Amino acid sequence: MILIKGGRVMDPATNLDEEKDIVIDDKGKITGIYEPEEVQRNHYETVIDAAGEIVAPGFVDVHVHFRDPGLTHKEDIVTGSAAAAAGGYTTVICMANTKPPVDDVDIYKELQAREDKLPIHVLQTANVTKGMKGEELTSMEELHLAGVKGFTDDGVPIENAGLMREALKKCKELDVPISLHEEDGKLMYSQGVNKGTVSEQLGLPGAPDEAEYTLVARDLMLNKKIGAKLNIQHISSAVTVDLIRKAKKDGIRVYGEVTPQHLSATEDLVLEQGALARVNPPLRTEKDRQALLQGLKDGVIDMIATDHAPHSKEEKERGIAKAPSGMIGLETAFGLLMTYGVKEYGIPLMTVLRALTVNPAELYKLDAGKIYVGGPGDLVIFDPNREWVVSDAFVSKSTNSPFIGRKLCGKVTKTICNGKIVFTK
Ligand SMILES: [Zn+2]
Repeated sequence: MILIKGGRVMDPATNLDEEKDIVIDDKGKITGIYEPEEVQRNHYETVIDAAGEIVAPGFVDVHVHFRDPGLTHKEDIVTGSAAAAAGGYTTVICMANTKPPVDDVDIYKELQAREDKLPIHVLQTANVTKGMKGEELTSMEELHLAGVKGFTDDGVPIENAGLMREALKKCKELDVPISLHEEDGKLMYSQGVNKGTVSEQLGLPGAPDEAEYTLVARDLMLNKKIGAKLNIQHISSAVTVDLIRKAKKDGIRVYGEVTPQHLSATEDLVLEQGALARVNPPLRTEKDRQALLQGLKDGVIDMIATDHAPHSKEEKERGIAKAPSGMIGLETAFGLLMTYGVKEYGIPLMTVLRALTVNPAELYKLDAGKIYVGGPGDLVIFDPNREWVVSDAFVSKSTNSPFIGRKLCGKVTKTICNGKIVFTK
């Protein structure tokens, strides 16, 4: 039995924001939420003193790359899940662009069986198309029955509109999210750096924002009559935020993800950090960043997802034109969100927590992201005011973060999953 004592408990599912004591039993379930001083501390073998800190539902990240199977020199499910726990996450959903990709039931079952043994909840998506080639749908029904939580070809946009319509229909029928990386290859000059002043300065052709928003517009319109759980991944452009705002107003079903890095940085970071700041879709302009912050603040953007994308040092040292795109994000997410979202932009902490917990959990129909008696003992404890400097001593197997050396405010101090302490600082 664990008693978490003296913390300010914040639960966006019920808007609870009060000092409470929480008890988790040996089966890993929350058995009581009490008024301060209602319970005696000497009845519990483990007492966590959370005075001065905030206790919230464990974070849920619906977009991570653990590179397992096939690319485990970058990350594997063990190191990836440990990095997640260090970032306050108790549930993550892995993308399916592994080697081989997760496009059939046998690959899925082998992977999920290993993921089920990890200390946090690691869940899995499968591909929309076979081999992520954009030509033929996977056996979505069979994969869904086997347990996959959603479908995505993340990393590769699906350019065939007819196939996309079929995929949306299938996902609607199965009532399962379809998550899309929206960058039309035909409109891209190069990847990973925004087409604009910075790409010009570096002599790179660049990734223009219209490559994102034209594909988003197409898929919103395709979903108009279908009503699938359409999830637009890692939104990067102000125009996309406007499109989603309008679509929601018009009753089109859509959900949006934003990453901590797109909320915290612009294309200027590429000048300072080179290939470490190369990411798909790219970091864009200050105007785009402000629109993303506002979209998160007013609820147009539903979820914060890290797009944790580990790459080795050797790969990132190939230079800005040749290095693979992506950055790690699980261990810096909360600090970036507190620093740039809550403290600098003024987004209420409860709104940020909602996008980290109950919103993603509800979209994926997970018993996660809320605090209730009988519910899972999955919690995060953090100090919203603790200052720290990002070092390269990551729990992740990779260190490809452009935020090393950055001073952040807000630090996860403990993560509890199934009633067990899985991270402590
Ligand atoms: Zn992506």
